[in-house]
Amino acid sequence: MSIAFNETLTDESAADDCCVRSNESRHVRRAMMSESAVDLSAIKGAVRTILKAVGEDPDRDGLLETPRRVAKMYAEMFSGLQQDPGRHLEVTFEESYDEIVLVRDIPFTSMCEHHLLPFRGVAHVAYIPNGRVTGLSKLARVVEEVSRRPQVQERMTQTVADLIEDRLGSRAVGVIIKAEHSCMSIRGIRKTGSLTVTSTMRGAFRSDPASRAELMSLINMPN
Ligand SMILES: [Zn+2]
Repeated sequence: MSIAFNETLTDESAADDCCVRSNESRHVRRAMMSESAVDLSAIKGAVRTILKAVGEDPDRDGLLETPRRVAKMYAEMFSGLQQDPGRHLEVTFEESYDEIVLVRDIPFTSMCEHHLLPFRGVAHVAYIPNGRVTGLSKLARVVEEVSRRPQVQERMTQTVADLIEDRLGSRAVGVIIKAEHSCMSIRGIRKTGSLTVTSTMRGAFRSDPASRAELMSLINMPN
């Protein structure tokens, strides 16, 4: 059985609001309400099963609401599966500017598809327009929505680059993502603070070392 996520948002309890909601997350929430359809009851059942399997009592007081909270959390973390992030790039503006446009340090949190643990970090997104530009905040929206999926960082980097290349037809696209993976810091090898860096370069950023060097100097420029 599939339950539309917007129907269940009405039963939010105050206990849920342990996090401050930014404008950005409100935007994401609105997008989810209109487009997401996640089977919350199936997730709730699965969480109960996991709690029992690890030796917990899912009916004890502190855990009673946990399956519902976790279901809502997954619906939010994976809301990008129901969305086309490229729609943010549909509105473009004619512009003769033909140098690098870079939005750097876009924060994001995604989910590693191997462990369903978060990886968090920043994305730097750059392009060289080919006669058309997009709104700067749209690049951040693309990163935000692409991040809301189970994935590996390598594919996330390529997905963001693909969307910009396809929708804007830019002369060059560069996406660099730096992130810390919980699956490396809190379990397994337990290396807190190690960063994974991935990079996808297209067009002139790939073929022209001078363009790529200029991009890297802009990314590394102090604030
Ligand atoms: Zn992992």
